[in-house]
Amino acid sequence: MTRLILATRNPGKITELKAILADAGLTHDLVGADAYPDVPDVRETGVTFGENALLKAHALAQATGLPAVADDSGLCVDVLGGAPGIFSARWSGKHGDDRANLELLLAQLSDIATEHRGAHFACAAALALPDGTERVVQGRLRGRLRHEPAGTHGFGYDPILQPEGESRTCAELSPDEKNAISHRGKAFRALVAVLRELLG
Ligand code: IMP
Repeated sequence: MTRLILATRNPGKITELKAILADAGLTHDLVGADAYPDVPDVRETGVTFGENALLKAHALAQATGLPAVADDSGLCVDVLGGAPGIFSARWSGKHGDDRANLELLLAQLSDIATEHRGAHFACAAALALPDGTERVVQGRLRGRLRHEPAGTHGFGYDPILQPEGESRTCAELSPDEKNAISHRGKAFRALVAVLRELLG
């Protein structure tokens, strides 16, 4: 069985990709970066989701000698020209402060009418092999930003993104409902064909 490593310490992401591999009939042994604790985290110095995903995947493949998958994602707001984008996790200046990031974004958009609040979550998922072979796939979840947060599930900007065709925000969907339509779910499912092509 081929071992595959996912560049994350988030157990939710590992479970999500494992379920997608199993649904596709792929039997790779997927482990998270915690299985290799000596491998240092990589600085995300790219300027696109794809570049950052590739940086993380290549670093992990080189350090472990295993095929490595990495993803990078964020929220892109139409009227902000795609921002926060790659800065989504640190929009308020402090990395990972979800509440502050969301509140700053809502304040910046306070004058923007409902019909101009289009946005999407974007995700790039990369596969890198130890020999340097690489592939990147993308996934998107289109929607509209609410004026006020709603819902308690999920993380990040979930309480303000209402997917197209939905009356609820991402934070009001169950984890399974969100995974079925999410940018990350779409990118991970697109990766299945790449894994079949490169790893058999
Ligand atoms: P990461 O690349 O998965 O670490 O995501 C970077 C940042 O993008 C997160 O800290 C969130 O602010 C935002 N983000 C990415 N995906 C989601 C999502 O599914 N829901 C809400 N926020 C997200």
